[in-house]
Amino acid sequence: MSYTLDTNILIGLIQRYPRDIFPAMWDSIEATVAAGESCICEAILREVHRGGDDLHDWAKNLQGFVCSITDEELVTVAQIGAAHPGWVQGQLNEADPFVIAHAKAEQSTIVSEENRKGPGAEDKNQKIPNIADEHRVRTIKFFDYIRAYGWQF
Ligand SMILES: [Zn+2]
Repeated sequence: MSYTLDTNILIGLIQRYPRDIFPAMWDSIEATVAAGESCICEAILREVHRGGDDLHDWAKNLQGFVCSITDEELVTVAQIGAAHPGWVQGQLNEADPFVIAHAKAEQSTIVSEENRKGPGAEDKNQKIPNIADEHRVRTIKFFDYIRAYGWQF
């Protein structure tokens, strides 16, 4: 099993589980990166600045963590844009189609704190789990990712 992490996971990590207090959590995540099981897509790295320079530097310098965007993924991003023209508006949801496209290409699971919207939601209110469903990509929350590994801190 492999996982693609959303921006909110990395920002939540630095804000709620700082490394000086939760070193084992960071070490555990880094170990999954070294094993090729956790990554982010390039579009997420750009958003990670919101979590500060330290977080951005950590993500950028972590060997094997940031995956480049491929042509195959751009095709999926274009499909999502055509199916949901109102979803990405400026910076709103900007990286989300890329996360889904990356998880689809790698057959990985998305880890995101976004909550699923009910049926009939307008495009601008759609969330990653809703659109990911359409591409048969699974989305789980951070604690489910932790539980999947059986980690305890
Ligand atoms: Zn990847």
